[in-house]
Amino acid sequence: CGIVGYIGFRDAYPIIIKGLHRLEYRGYDSAGISLFDNGLKVYKKAGKVSDLENFVKDIDLQGSMGMGHTRWATHGAPSDRNSHPHSSGNRKLTIIHNGIIENYGPIKETLTHKGHIFKSDTDTEVLVHLIEDIQNETGFGLREAVRVALTKVIGAYAIVIMSDDEPDLLIAARKGSPMVIGVGKGEYFIASDATPIVEYTKNVIYLNDNEVAYISRENLLIKTIDNQVHTPYIQELDLKL
Ligand code: GLU
Repeated sequence: CGIVGYIGFRDAYPIIIKGLHRLEYRGYDSAGISLFDNGLKVYKKAGKVSDLENFVKDIDLQGSMGMGHTRWATHGAPSDRNSHPHSSGNRKLTIIHNGIIENYGPIKETLTHKGHIFKSDTDTEVLVHLIEDIQNETGFGLREAVRVALTKVIGAYAIVIMSDDEPDLLIAARKGSPMVIGVGKGEYFIASDATPIVEYTKNVIYLNDNEVAYISRENLLIKTIDNQVHTPYIQELDLKL
């Protein structure tokens, strides 16, 4: 039910955990994070954000890119296994998602026949396997594969994706679920609403429905799902915590 992402030069973990706490008011049953530190690391737990913090307290969490999620289960019971992030088979790709992928059933069936093995009961996991499948079938890079995958899903979503092959890329997209991007100098923030962002920057972009944002430390590109480049409007927040 909440999403936080960071890419820049600071330690991502404290920013993400603080952001998840700020989004707790929205309600949730599980929490998880992914950090890029010599490859993707994933930690997730059913329960509170504080349970997740407790779970990772002895781990040295490095990385200046990462994402965090609080889940309000819609498909699959609240459990460690069903918590986000979800990864494709070889953990090359990792996703967090708020919302519902309505046509996950038939997609899951097709992908299962093609040999994909699913580790959770969620609708979300289907999307990360679909992206991987499109890459396998077409040879598309990650950016294009994500966009094409989103043309094939029905439902509502706010998602963030990270890849083991991409140490300088967060991909965010939305349809029907809110998503705000905070614009800093050499850093970007992503969140479900502005409350996790406002202490770092007042400059934000509200992503529109059917848009995908490709976010690197020095660059942000927004496209519509039908592949038109969209010049973002950066607005100044007038919000106090
Ligand atoms: N439908 C997804 C799930 O059940 C995401 C739920 C959410 O919005 O947190 O895991």
